[in-house]
Amino acid sequence: RTAPQSLLETPHEGTKIKHIIAVISGKGGVGKSSVTTSLAVTLNRLGYKTAVLDADITGPSIPTAFGINEEPERGDDFLYAVETKTGIKMMSINLLIEDQTAPVIWRGPIIAGAVKQFYTDVVWGDIDYMLVDCPPGTGDVPLTVFQSLPVDGAVIVTTPQDLVSLIVEKAVRMADDMGIRILGLVENMSYFKCPDCGKEHSIFGESKVEEIQDRFGIETVVKLPIDPALAGLMDEGKIEDMPESKLKEFAQTIVGKIG
Ligand code: ADP
Repeated sequence: RTAPQSLLETPHEGTKIKHIIAVISGKGGVGKSSVTTSLAVTLNRLGYKTAVLDADITGPSIPTAFGINEEPERGDDFLYAVETKTGIKMMSINLLIEDQTAPVIWRGPIIAGAVKQFYTDVVWGDIDYMLVDCPPGTGDVPLTVFQSLPVDGAVIVTTPQDLVSLIVEKAVRMADDMGIRILGLVENMSYFKCPDCGKEHSIFGESKVEEIQDRFGIETVVKLPIDPALAGLMDEGKIEDMPESKLKEFAQTIVGKIG
């Protein structure tokens, strides 16, 4: 990575994080939070100590997916990461806001500051892989994550529609310009597999993933189906009960790349 070392923050005492992966998207609603949580569950099942830093405060989807709504325990001037049922560590601004349905109107720089503090002032313990769920787009928060955390690389989440527009390119460019390696691309809601005939239908248009892959030299790609059951598990706080998915191979490939 090329970010000057002086910009990097130091984690809190009692925290040892081996690798950080930023999860980014061009726009909202593409399933970034779903992919972040599913990927965390997958890495955890593969035996890695896994953490999720939720830096996307557009809604409490990550705490909800894990069925967590308790306030984190506090120390003198630090917080303890909360632990999910299966032992994934998690921290989210949404856990610190009393009314989770209240619209959060903080400006980008304030949220970016909070995200830094989630790295420096939270006791995470020993972590192999930390996933950082960034807000969509190329604003202050993903920028701060790239500049101030020692990120190993980024995973980009898109949908077939998203790939038609130039939005996703912006996200890819931002990572590129900042010397952040793109570890992989997830085309979410890529197709729907008919439960009766087994045929795969491209509901949101034909996949454009190969085009993007070629253009930006992204080697690792996974196409995930539209899966109403997964959406249900997210809503019910039971993402840790998800069946094994194509993300397993994707996660293994990424882990192999990071080394
Ligand atoms: P983002 O974080 O990009 O805003 P979310 O992860 O919150 O997106 O997903 C937006 C909505 O789409 C949620 O209701 C989620 O449950 C649903 N969703 C995401 N991925 C899928 C999928 N593969 N199949 C079905 N629904 C999905």
